[in-house]
Amino acid sequence: MKPVAFDYRRARSVEEAAILLKEGGGNTRLLAGGQSLGPMLNLRLARPARLVDIKRAEGLRDLAADDTMFSIGAGFTHAEIEDGVVEDPTGGLLRRITGGIAYRAIRNRGTLGGSLAHADPAAEWISAMAALGAVIVAHEGGQRLRRLAADRFLRGAFATSLSEDEVLVAIEVPRLSRQARFGFYKLCRKAGEFAKAIGIAVFDPDLGIARVLAGAVDGAPVLLPVTAARLRDAGPQAAAQAVADEIGVQPSPCPCGRGSGGGGRRVGPPVLPHLSAAEGMLRATAVRRAIMQLDTAMES
Ligand SMILES: Cc1cc2nc3c(=O)[nH]c(=O)nc-3n(C[C@H](O)[C@H](O)[C@H](O)COP(=O)(O)OP(=O)(O)OC[C@H]3O[C@@H](n4cnc5c(N)ncnc54)[C@H](O)[C@@H]3O)c2cc1C
Repeated sequence: MKPVAFDYRRARSVEEAAILLKEGGGNTRLLAGGQSLGPMLNLRLARPARLVDIKRAEGLRDLAADDTMFSIGAGFTHAEIEDGVVEDPTGGLLRRITGGIAYRAIRNRGTLGGSLAHADPAAEWISAMAALGAVIVAHEGGQRLRRLAADRFLRGAFATSLSEDEVLVAIEVPRLSRQARFGFYKLCRKAGEFAKAIGIAVFDPDLGIARVLAGAVDGAPVLLPVTAARLRDAGPQAAAQAVADEIGVQPSPCPCGRGSGGGGRRVGPPVLPHLSAAEGMLRATAVRRAIMQLDTAMES
């Protein structure tokens, strides 16, 4: 299939892109790497009247840093993060994640901002930025910037908090300390495919950060605050035991006959109660494996 006819414009700057979006009144799409939008156009799942090409737009490839965060322009590609062109303020989590996104030809063109704006719940960046507590910076037009918490950015599958005429310009990633350790587990059928489940665990004792996330669910990724508190207070082994219960998977009975695998007590209301047992189990498995990776990393 071929796309429906559209008007093509190339924006020279973020400001111009925002103006062209506003002019289009909701029937205009930005084109970044084209790795998600291209197939959607060809399948006519997207039928914009105008495409605004932002690949060379000024303002999307800026880097900025201070003691607490590192800001990455939305126009950087997955491959540039993978290759270390962009500093990794997390001590390796960003680079580790990019290596598993699709395959190299897609990583060469696909952008960080495009992935976040596309908002596929199975995509890595959506989960990673939420797990890290990153901030998404959007250009509202007229030089105004809006900052959105990445863990509240998704409204649902393929739906974000961006308005129709906003351009995602950068992502502010919190800087982790040298003591920080992480685990990331993508559960998928074969390398290069989208995730069936994502688990991420981040622990930074110096900064008091403990965050655990289940991703690739049917909407926004979910944080597991009870599991994260166990991680901070009692360590990875105790945290791993809380995962299934917090997600809402019926915990398997303890072989000792004393209640559930969650340590014998419920850990609070389930965060994904609507998932089937099989779907919940996939997420619990990915999160537990991420925590086990973290455990190993903490020993090194
Ligand atoms: C075969 C295949 C396998 C893939 N596997 C994976 C995978 O395993 N994991 C994964 O995470 N991803 C995967 N992807 C998606 C890939 O990572 C894309 O790069 C990414 O989803 C979109 O980035 P892009 O720059 O190409 O955006 P585009 O395709 O150009 O745009 C995507 C959407 O975002 C909007 N947009 C783009 N930039 C901005 C911006 N700055 N501000 C506001 N809106 C914007 C566009 O208007 C469009 O609606 C896969 C893609 C393919 C084709």
